[in-house]
Amino acid sequence: MDRCSASSLLAAIARPAVRNETGTIRVSLDDGQTLRAKAREKLESGTLPVDDHVRVWGGRGANQPCALCDIPISPDDIEYELELRRRSELHTYRFHRRCLAIWELERGRRQ
Ligand SMILES: [Zn+2]
Repeated sequence: MDRCSASSLLAAIARPAVRNETGTIRVSLDDGQTLRAKAREKLESGTLPVDDHVRVWGGRGANQPCALCDIPISPDDIEYELELRRRSELHTYRFHRRCLAIWELERGRRQ
């Protein structure tokens, strides 16, 4: 990972707060630590892949659970959908923007 993309990932993680219609979800540094621990756990167990993705695109959430935090991605949020190949099968993972950044960061540390 080059320095430029690492710093933009960190900027995404450091985003102070996310608002939606049901209220304010506070995103503190602690949440970042918790999510990073969760990402490491899921990478370790194979629930989340370390593989490079073949396609990624964003769109409105469809209340499907995020692959990292398991919280449904509401239509107010942007959902990032990743497609990647594992053992020649295509798999799809959905992430919040911030969760995607955390997964990218933790996955990068393992490679
Ligand atoms: Zn998430």
